[in-house]
Parts: sequence; C-alpha cells; structure tokens
Amino acid sequence: MAVIKTINVSKVYPGGSNPVVALNNVSLSFEKGEFSCIIGPSGSGKTTLLNIIGGLDKPTDGKVYIEDKRIDILSSYDRIDFRLHNIGFVFQYFNLIPVMTAFENAAFIMQLQGYSDKEVKERIHFLLSAVGLEKRMHSIPSELSGGEQQRVAVVRALASRPKFILADEPTANLDSTSAFNLLDIMQKLNFEEGITFVFSTHDQRVIDKARRVIKMVDGSVVEDKEMQ
Ligand code: ADP
Ligand code: MG
Repeated sequence: MAVIKTINVSKVYPGGSNPVVALNNVSLSFEKGEFSCIIGPSGSGKTTLLNIIGGLDKPTDGKVYIEDKRIDILSSYDRIDFRLHNIGFVFQYFNLIPVMTAFENAAFIMQLQGYSDKEVKERIHFLLSAVGLEKRMHSIPSELSGGEQQRVAVVRALASRPKFILADEPTANLDSTSAFNLLDIMQKLNFEEGITFVFSTHDQRVIDKARRVIKMVDGSVVEDKEMQ
C-alpha cells in the first residue's frame, strides 16, 4: 500500500476574475521508504502540493490518501490531529521557537503527542547526537547557524516516527556545505530509520541526492523518474 496517494488533485486559488490554478490533476503515489524530490520553477505548485499531502491545506478537487485514510475530507480539527500523529514537516525558514533551546524545540512535537519525559529525553538526545548537535542542545536558535537550526527542525519532525516527512525547500536558506550536510543526515535517517522523505527543491545539487525526481510545471507533473 502506498503511504501517500493523490488522485486527480487540483487546487484553484480564487482570485476574483483571475483565479490561479496551482495544481492541475496531480496523481502521485509514494511508497514507504522513498527518498523523493519534487522539482520545478518557482510558482509551479511544489509548496501547494506538499501542503495538501501534509493536510495543511485542502484540494479544490480530487482525493488524498495517507495509507488507507482519506484526509482531504476530514474536518480541520481532525486534520490537525491526524497531522500531529502521522506527518513530520520541515520548512524553508526552519520555524523554530526563538525562546526555546535546541532540545526543547526538538522535543516539542513528542511532548504534544504525550510521550513520557524519559522517552522524550532518550530519543531527542539520541537524535540530536546523531546529527552532530550533542554540544548545542542548550543553545537557542539565534545562537545556532542556519544549518544547525535546520538539523534541529529535522529532528523535531522525525522524533516521533511519523509515517513520512515533508520538507519544503529545506536547503533554500543554507550555504552549500550546510545543504550537503543536511541532505546527508536526511539520507542517513531515511536509511537507518526507514522514514519516507518527500522534499522539494530547485537546487540541482540537492536533486542529485534523490532516488526519484518528480518535475512540475504550471501545476502539472511533467516528468517522474527513478534515479540510479
Ligand atoms: P512553488 O512552491 O513551486 O513556488 P506554489 O505552490 O507556492 O509554487 O504556488 C503555485 C501557484 O499558486 C503560484 O502561481 C502562486 O502564486 C499561487 N499561490 C500560492 N499560494 C497562493 C495563495 N495563498 N493565494 C493565491 N495564490 C497562491
Ligand atoms: Mg514553494
């Protein structure tokens, strides 16, 4: 069974006399363990697609399944709850809470999910160490580099073992060394924890790391290929 499946998903933003068709009949499946990349120029619909797959937004038309559950018809309350327990997000601008330490930020989702303090501590220590941040756990975001902040965001997203992680241009605000390091870490976690990653980018160096590349233009999938 696919972990994510969209069937004829369209999204139209009503703009008065100029509605924008952000997605046009997108049908895609993602299997467990994938490390896949959505590419395409700015405005091609990457963010809209990730937001709809992740239950942050609803399609105008079509169906979205996470395993066997159809999420596009959930109420917004049920969608928020489903998202919390099933989906991890990594954003372009990191979205860490400025007054919380790296440890507290990384632990936040696990705490919302009701894990015990002991479980949270063990898992977050393990993961922050795995991404090379064992010495930065008590630093706040403004004391961390962009690459370090994004690693905290990745740990936050995957700490509670979501069904998959969506990352919207996760390297867009990183220098190229940090971008490579982040991708290496994502690959390692994909391999070791079996977590499914779907990320968007328009950076060719990031694209080269993906095992599947899906290209979008003007809201449509124009290419979908497996890489070696
Ligand atoms: P990408 O992430 O590939 O740059 P987006 O999904 O952000 O593309 O945008 C796709 C299209 O939808 C663009 O034309 C964009 O201007 C439009 N769009 C995105 N969000 C909104 C919105 N909230 N309201 C109106 N138009 C939007
Ligand atoms: Mg975008």
